[in-house]
Amino acid sequence: MKITDILQVLERFAAPELQEDYDNAGLIAGDQRWECTGVLCTLDATPEVIEEAVARGCNLVVAHHPIVFKGLKRINGKTYIERALITAIKNDIAIYACHTNLDNVVEGVSRRMADKLGIRDGSVLAPKSRQLRRLITFAPVDKADAVRDALFAAGAGNIGNYSECSFNTEGEGSFKAGDGADPYVGKVGELHLERETKIETVFPFYLEDQVVRALVQAHPYEEVAYDIFAMENTHFGIGAGFVGNLPEALEPVAFLEKLRDSFGLQALRHTVFPGRPIRRVALCGGSGAFLIRTALAAGADAYVTADVKYHEFFDAEGRMLLADIGHWESEQFTVDLLQELIAGKFPTFAVLKSSVATNPLRYFPA
Ligand SMILES: [Zn+2]
Repeated sequence: MKITDILQVLERFAAPELQEDYDNAGLIAGDQRWECTGVLCTLDATPEVIEEAVARGCNLVVAHHPIVFKGLKRINGKTYIERALITAIKNDIAIYACHTNLDNVVEGVSRRMADKLGIRDGSVLAPKSRQLRRLITFAPVDKADAVRDALFAAGAGNIGNYSECSFNTEGEGSFKAGDGADPYVGKVGELHLERETKIETVFPFYLEDQVVRALVQAHPYEEVAYDIFAMENTHFGIGAGFVGNLPEALEPVAFLEKLRDSFGLQALRHTVFPGRPIRRVALCGGSGAFLIRTALAAGADAYVTADVKYHEFFDAEGRMLLADIGHWESEQFTVDLLQELIAGKFPTFAVLKSSVATNPLRYFPA
């Protein structure tokens, strides 16, 4: 098993193209062609975690947070970032980060939080638009099935819980092969009319290369005619945060107790109670203050996130219980998500969870 095989599993779930502009998700150190000896999953690839990987015989560390986030001008071991890199490189340890791309998929970080609270009927809190492309192509009628199948196998045709979606109309295509052409039907220098099926389907933007490659491979023509359009539509499976309903409404204090117990919290910060029970809950793992108003607009009775600043608490307008449970606390189950993703695909391979508690914060009194 190569490191690239592990990364493929992660990237099929959370494409690197879905990361935010400021992010640095992806392979940060090492070579994906290396044979993989074991995987260690963690939130943070700190020097202690890299040392743990060495000790436990894992040459791939899969982290949520990219240890290198901005440019490094020196690597002399003065910071924990440089020490983590030096230890990784010295010991041939690869470091891979699956960060905002894992936040931006419906089954990602925030969904995992929602599962811990038993939230159902949920959806992405801030679904993104402009994630889809429309493909239109034309194939001889008797080859349309093969072309469609190839497009679906490459990831086209998925809308929500439906797969193999397309629209097909028959018509007549025309072409005249020129000098040097080797036409599949018709003759060089003669106008040819062919019964063709026009196939229309959709795919997420990051699959464009593989969809076009599959189309060209499956299509019998020497020159394949196709159009790709950017779509404005919202993709309800891509975007930050998650919102859904508790199985039954809870009084605010009972909700906070549930939060405490589900996330093992020692303390949390919250706004005034909204004067009604909590049923609809929005969540965003990590720094989610940018979605406070989105959570309000989604009708959330409570919004659970982290890294909220003093003035941002006012944005809840007293109309929603805004709870800051801590960054590490909100994302702690992401390690399970990463581990289960990889182990689910390679059940007999060593896919471990780090035993290093990377949270840099402590609470007083303890
Ligand atoms: Zn985070």
